[in-house]
Amino acid sequence: MDEADLPEGDVLVDVKYSTLNYKDGLAITGMGPVVRSFPMVPGVDFAGVVAESHHEDFKAGDEVILTGWGLGEERWGGYAERARVQGDWLVPLPQGMTLSQSMTIGTAGFTAMLCVMRLEQLGLRPDSGPVLVTGASGGVGSVAVKLLAGRGYQVSAMTGRVEEEAYLKALGASEVINRADYNEPGKPLQKGIWAGAVDTVGGQILANLLASTRQDGIVTACGLAASMDLPTTVAPFILRNVTLAGVESVYAARKLRLEAWKHLARELDAEALERISQTVGLSEVIPAAHDIMAGKVRGRMIVDIAR
Ligand code: NDP
Repeated sequence: MDEADLPEGDVLVDVKYSTLNYKDGLAITGMGPVVRSFPMVPGVDFAGVVAESHHEDFKAGDEVILTGWGLGEERWGGYAERARVQGDWLVPLPQGMTLSQSMTIGTAGFTAMLCVMRLEQLGLRPDSGPVLVTGASGGVGSVAVKLLAGRGYQVSAMTGRVEEEAYLKALGASEVINRADYNEPGKPLQKGIWAGAVDTVGGQILANLLASTRQDGIVTACGLAASMDLPTTVAPFILRNVTLAGVESVYAARKLRLEAWKHLARELDAEALERISQTVGLSEVIPAAHDIMAGKVRGRMIVDIAR
């Protein structure tokens, strides 16, 4: 493909970095119906430098980020040297952040921030009680642990990889919970432990998490790494006033995006970003996609387009 094949758009971007998200894993391996039309350039996000712009907010040389908006699903995405997109989808790179750091965060980190903002919008505070993050060693989970700990929450990290305890504690988790403890069907109401939770996995784990959420607790659901199902009852909602709030990042409004990126720039330091990131070249994405589907990728995987 060359530049003439690129779709319509008012901004042309030289893509420097993309990332490998769970959704990219589904698209590349074909394990989930993510790609809606072919041919498709995958990659649900990217960061790069504007090459040409007919959009009033951007000019050549500006550093920009794009997450969501159907990239890698119904619109050509970030696994390419150039992308032509609508300027309305772009956000400027926050001050003090590098392009590679922005993609260490990427769609997963942005979604983690949306979850934290949603929990607090619904009333969660650090003194409300302990907060659980599921799929904690993954991309969304790692960033959620770091953000919540940074805001003063007592964070429990649930993982299937208990060998990652040191990693999760370095991110700020006060304890690590084995996900095997939450895998089996349990009672509709269990001991109320969690004041809040960020769930990235769904399925039986989310059902048990809801059943063990305390009075007035708030749970955000953003993922399905375990299952699309939710075998729960109404008990947590009608007997404990539990709130289950969905979080969707792809079509998040621009105002919310700008606010989330402002918080991310402030709350994630270079050291934390370094700790959660690993980089692969574009040519290594296919095997890496199989790894992410097998739950073997820790933290965030950046894709260096030039490598
Ligand atoms: P990752 O693959 O990086 O992380 C997912 C984690 O879930 C794994 O690291 C693993 O963590 C855990 N996990 C994997 N398989 C299972 C299983 N069978 N049962 C229980 N836990 C499992 O993915 P991302 O962090 O990129 O995404 C997480 C989820 O969030 C995905 O479902 C993704 O589609 C969704 N998502 C949704 C968005 C939205 O807008 N709503 C945006 C971004 C992501 P561990 O080893 O620690 O247990």
